[in-house]
Amino acid sequence: MRMFLHKHVRVLVFAAVLISSPALEPSSFVGPDLVWSETWPGPGVFSVRLLSDYEVSLLHTPFDAPVFVLGASEKGSGALADSLSDGTRHVEGPSVAVLAGAHANEPAAVLAAYWLVERCRVEGGTLVVVPRANIPAAHWSGTPDGAPLTLTLGGRSLRYGARFTDPVLESLPDPLWHVPPATALSGKSLVLPGFEARNLNRVYSGDPTGSMTARTAWAITSMLSSPGVIGAIDLHEAGRKSGLAYTLITRSEFMDVAVATALDLEIRYDLTFRLERSDSSHAGYSHWEWGSMGVPSFLVETYNPAQDPATDSQDMLELATQQLAARVFAQLCALDGLVRHMAETSGQMMRLEGLPSCVDEVQTWLNGSIL
Ligand SMILES: [Zn+2]
Repeated sequence: MRMFLHKHVRVLVFAAVLISSPALEPSSFVGPDLVWSETWPGPGVFSVRLLSDYEVSLLHTPFDAPVFVLGASEKGSGALADSLSDGTRHVEGPSVAVLAGAHANEPAAVLAAYWLVERCRVEGGTLVVVPRANIPAAHWSGTPDGAPLTLTLGGRSLRYGARFTDPVLESLPDPLWHVPPATALSGKSLVLPGFEARNLNRVYSGDPTGSMTARTAWAITSMLSSPGVIGAIDLHEAGRKSGLAYTLITRSEFMDVAVATALDLEIRYDLTFRLERSDSSHAGYSHWEWGSMGVPSFLVETYNPAQDPATDSQDMLELATQQLAARVFAQLCALDGLVRHMAETSGQMMRLEGLPSCVDEVQTWLNGSIL
């Protein structure tokens, strides 16, 4: 606990230095309080859990994170909704998990999750939303002495952090090399630089006795182990160089859902998403490891210009902010299609209500004109 208190003080010092407005000091929020400072649950949310409900060692640490449960009027109709609160496990309704914020420098993913939390209702099942899966990645900018930036969007202050967990908040030093857990088990030789051990999307399925990042992954994996879970969606963004922008990524066994969703996106919204089939080189990735558990799982990637190297003539983060509404809209359209097609594949009818009908609607929301 002392470690965390000490590190909280460091974050607070950053806030004092970097935030000129004394009104909110958004950079001072740590752990779950960061999420509570950024979003306001709407009527579709009927309960809120924490990741520590699934891995208790996260409790009272900056790694704990709110888990919003959205469902229909029949409270607790989905498996994830009921698996912990009273010990009963209702399995009559399907549950889909939506994760965002594994990488805290991908704001359209986090905002899409906030749209769900604030504005959506779910019919025929349960949606379990974790808008910031790795909150400590939002506590720094990716450089040792760099505080995170804050995007001001209407009345919302949104933290723009980094791809990796803040090492000051991590319980273990980086190893020399990081070997994704499943790779170690399979005996293959996928070896990554040591700092990738702080990349939440390289440490699945996680480890309840490992680093805090690995424990966070374990909490999410445990959450997805609940009966009745029919799918999981991990929202991300990418720079141009990665070649992943506007891509749906999944294992071959779930490609039918991705194909059907991509067709929907093209026909209904004139949005072109590429498809990418994963292989064992994706060991440690969320969708690969969750899929190995039999849970249809997908990565959704939109394009974030701020993840491209900046040039002298262009403020990439400013450009990224200008494009946010279109990216959030694309994330939500993809999510809608994936949920619908996952439900159909498992013989269920599950529908999201309250999604935006156009980019302008998202822009108005970002401007703070509708709540
Ligand atoms: Zn990402």
